Amino acid sequence: MNIVFLGPPGAGKGTHAQRLMKEMNIPQISTGDMFRRAIREQTPTGMDAKRYMDKGELVPDEVVVAMVKERLAEPDCANGYILDGFPRTVAQAEALDTIAHIDVALNIDVPDEIIINRLSGRRVCAACGGTFHVSLLKGDKCPECGGELFQRDDDKPATVKNRLDVYQEKTAPLIDYYAKKGILSTAKCADGGVDENYALVKAALNAKA
Ligand code: AMP
Repeated sequence: MNIVFLGPPGAGKGTHAQRLMKEMNIPQISTGDMFRRAIREQTPTGMDAKRYMDKGELVPDEVVVAMVKERLAEPDCANGYILDGFPRTVAQAEALDTIAHIDVALNIDVPDEIIINRLSGRRVCAACGGTFHVSLLKGDKCPECGGELFQRDDDKPATVKNRLDVYQEKTAPLIDYYAKKGILSTAKCADGGVDENYALVKAALNAKA
């Protein structure tokens, strides 16, 4: 099954997609993670993307589409995949329709105030990539592996505000885009725990699968 995860930054797309990936044994494809890896490896795509990411802006469509097209051609995508953070514009969704058949667009709907609290308190482990909220941390090291924790540059307050504005303007129209195709399913997640929200995500997925 080919699944698109929609929802604002911080909605929990990555967390739920990773869990679903293990359960369904299909890859999670996060364009944000792909860019962050490209930045670490200092590739030309990474250097180019960083200029946009640091400001909370979107990387140009043609760069993202080319990267995703290449990724979807890899053998592990043959039995399905979860797209997490792509598409983010109608132009990207239209480009995706020319290279793939999407079965379900799963929209994770979370109120703005919860998003702002989550993103500004999010810390990432440099060693294992795990994400944690400051309110649940005891010290300044990763509770899973003891690695160094850091705050993503784009999780700083001014950038978070811009990312949410960009989401409303450029990405929210995709909800209508996929609703018109009849493949949209929405999970209304509030401030419940991860397990509770994951159950809502699974229910929304099963409603369309
Ligand atoms: P994420 O980890 O999904 O929140 O993505 C982090 C940043 O990477 C975004 O704020 C964008 O700058 C960039 N990015 C990730 N996916 C896309 C996409 N599909 N289109 C444009 N920019 C993207």
